[in-house]
Amino acid sequence: MKTIETDVLVIGSGTAGLSAATYAAQDNKRVLILDKGALGWSGSSTGAVQVAGLGSWSHEQDGPEPYLQDIYKSGRGLSSPVLAQTLVNDIKTRLEDLIDWGLKLDREGEQVTVSHTSGHSLPRSVSAKKGKTGLGLLHTLRKKVTKDDRVATWSDVMTVELLKTHKRVYGALVLDLSDNTFYKIKSKATILATGGAGQLYPITSNPVQSTGDGYALALKAGASLIDFEQVQFYPVSIMEPKSIAGLCISFYHYSKLF
Ligand SMILES: Cc1cc2nc3c(=O)[nH]c(=O)nc-3n(C[C@H](O)[C@H](O)[C@H](O)COP(=O)(O)OP(=O)(O)OC[C@H]3O[C@@H](n4cnc5c(N)ncnc54)[C@H](O)[C@@H]3O)c2cc1C
Repeated sequence: MKTIETDVLVIGSGTAGLSAATYAAQDNKRVLILDKGALGWSGSSTGAVQVAGLGSWSHEQDGPEPYLQDIYKSGRGLSSPVLAQTLVNDIKTRLEDLIDWGLKLDREGEQVTVSHTSGHSLPRSVSAKKGKTGLGLLHTLRKKVTKDDRVATWSDVMTVELLKTHKRVYGALVLDLSDNTFYKIKSKATILATGGAGQLYPITSNPVQSTGDGYALALKAGASLIDFEQVQFYPVSIMEPKSIAGLCISFYHYSKLF
């Protein structure tokens, strides 16, 4: 079996994987990013409509603290303080990075379009590509990683198992779906960015790739899985006909109809 070596192996090329690859490369690491589908085109990132952010468009009373309080209120005390604080403290810089790399936010004239979405006490949701925000993010990040010599990319490769020794993951066993060949990838760090598990449900707005592979890979490697009752569902989606069951009508598109 052939062995490939890299500093950082990123499994999954949605917005999480492509961002992780970009920042790891900026830290001068050799990165290999792979996906069981088409790189930067698979997964649920394609569906995202808006991002609740902070930036030059923010209301004068807005900032990390009001945003944090909104998260705690909507989370009914269940939100992880570490994750919530990371989000509110980092979101401005992360969006500025994306804008620097070419993301164009939707605008009305000169002004960034900002919507007031449920759960937020102030208007802070922004979009790109007229509500195809996920595609805008993926497009920007895909361009960034494919131009970076430190990042290698690989589509149609399924991660089958994490390689482990003495309680440490040192890479992964992968199957190249184009010719059914197994490869061993050795890495100093392995990042699981394989998305969710929406396909566990008979009707879902999630794409076919959301089969919880990352959870299974991590569990098999000895990780503990937590908070499995926290599954997000869109409240508005189509039930019939069966061929398009699960297709979701977002509030963004709904509000543009009237
Ligand atoms: C319809 C819809 C609307 C949404 N709207 C919004 C919104 O408005 N705002 C918002 O913030 N969020 C929204 N979300 C949620 C958001 O899109 C996701 O939380 C986010 O994009 C997840 O990104 P990710 O990179 O973690 O996973 P994904 O984008 O799902 O990427 C995971 C990748 O891993 C790959 N993969 C999986 N298993 C393997 C394996 N074994 N080997 C190799 N590769 C593998 C998959 O092919 C996929 O490309 C929405 C989601 C959906 C479905």
